[in-house]
Amino acid sequence: MTQYDYDLFVIGAGSGGVRAARIAAQHGAKVAVAEEYRVGGTCVIRGCVPKKLFVYASHYAEAFEDAVGFGWTTEKVSFDWQTLVANKDKEIDRLNKAYIRNLEGAGAELIMARASFVDRHRLALSTGREVTAKHVLIATGAQPFVPLHLPGRELAITSNEAFHLERLPARICIVGGGYIAVEFAGIFNNLGVETVLIYRGEKILRGFDEDLRDHLTAEMRKKGIEFRLGCDVARIERSGDGVRVTCNDDTVFGAGQIMYATGRIPNVMDLDLEKVGVELTPHYAVKVDDYSRTSVENIYAVGDVTNRLNLTPVAIREGHAFADTVFGGRHIAVDHTNVPTAVFSQPEIGTVGLSEEKARELHPSIDIYKTSFRPMRGTMSGRDERMLMKLVVDAASDKVLGCHIMGPDAGEMAQLLGIAVKMGATKADFDATMALHPTAAEELVTMRQKWTD
Ligand code: NDP
Repeated sequence: MTQYDYDLFVIGAGSGGVRAARIAAQHGAKVAVAEEYRVGGTCVIRGCVPKKLFVYASHYAEAFEDAVGFGWTTEKVSFDWQTLVANKDKEIDRLNKAYIRNLEGAGAELIMARASFVDRHRLALSTGREVTAKHVLIATGAQPFVPLHLPGRELAITSNEAFHLERLPARICIVGGGYIAVEFAGIFNNLGVETVLIYRGEKILRGFDEDLRDHLTAEMRKKGIEFRLGCDVARIERSGDGVRVTCNDDTVFGAGQIMYATGRIPNVMDLDLEKVGVELTPHYAVKVDDYSRTSVENIYAVGDVTNRLNLTPVAIREGHAFADTVFGGRHIAVDHTNVPTAVFSQPEIGTVGLSEEKARELHPSIDIYKTSFRPMRGTMSGRDERMLMKLVVDAASDKVLGCHIMGPDAGEMAQLLGIAVKMGATKADFDATMALHPTAAEELVTMRQKWTD
């Protein structure tokens, strides 16, 4: 029998890779993980976690304004960007160390190096060493994508750099209409940066429920964000300390920074996948089956590098299922349906299940229940911000197919609604649930009138 150095070699110590390594080690496998940058991956180091800390920071701007209506005097407040960045970095360092401890505590060996394939069982490390493994897991994630032929692309920053800006610009231009663009637009705008969002389509957040897209745009506009829709950047030039942006409609404007949030591409470069014949999708993601197995029998892939559903908990679940399947003697395929998700825009979005538009495509008859209202906290503060709640129901079975919320704590609500939707709750189940008063969420169980346009 062939002897390998490891039962499992994981490339990439992000959310998916770390979970897979830990569970495989707990199942008794001899595991090593290679990481070239920092343990924790995108989510911990330059994604979800630092982003959410920035979102919290930016909420204070409105909290101080709102507090006045509740009797507070808040004239002397001020904000210091460098303090926020330094404290955020401290927290990320703490989490990074915790991830390393957990990995090593589970018995996996951490190797700080870049790995690439020599053959399907042999990997070359950037330290010069070669190792062999019975199974290999590719968990290398993805990285921001800036259009390749854009003149001046080197002047653009991405979310990676936004976490480490030395100072806040007076004005920022953000390109894109997805999660990252709207989240950072909210952060910068609330921190006092004049914010312009440029998006090539007519409506941000393609794929989300239309009501969410419309309401979010309206609320972001009210907060002062300038939208340039149906517009794309033709070129970027340096201008003094900042940039001069020319759009394809020939409009020109200046900004201190331009940030691209135009999607992410899987990290498959430099893995030498062609040496082993691992197949890619047309979008350069690693092609996998329901068990995260690639076209090569002993090589698997999880997380953003597979471009299935690019969310941290999904990568974790895929890593766990892989380890249970290969080393735990159980066959577990991850169910990618009805995954709750939040956009930490301002106001926040929380959603699970089908949009109204998708539901109408898939089901013959759909009932809609929706309401838009000013939450109680907005009454005394005088804040003119409306909350949106919407249920999409299959008329034939009464099943709730989708829940869409925009407003404070929408993400927290979507997590819990995810349980009900996953269990197949009906509208009658929602109606039978007693309201919890006074909350905003009680609206979810008190909507009785079907919406008619
Ligand atoms: P998204 O895929 O969400 O959005 C990309 C945006 O860029 C879209 O609006 C897209 O437009 C636009 N775009 C793409 N290519 C170009 C181009 N060549 N020129 C101009 N515009 C372009 O990507 P993000 O970068 O925002 O985020 C990546 C992924 O990370 C998300 O999809 C999500 O899975 C995950 N994420 C999750 C978060 C969360 O859970 N809260 C937070 C942040 C990220 P169009 O719609 O027209 O294609």
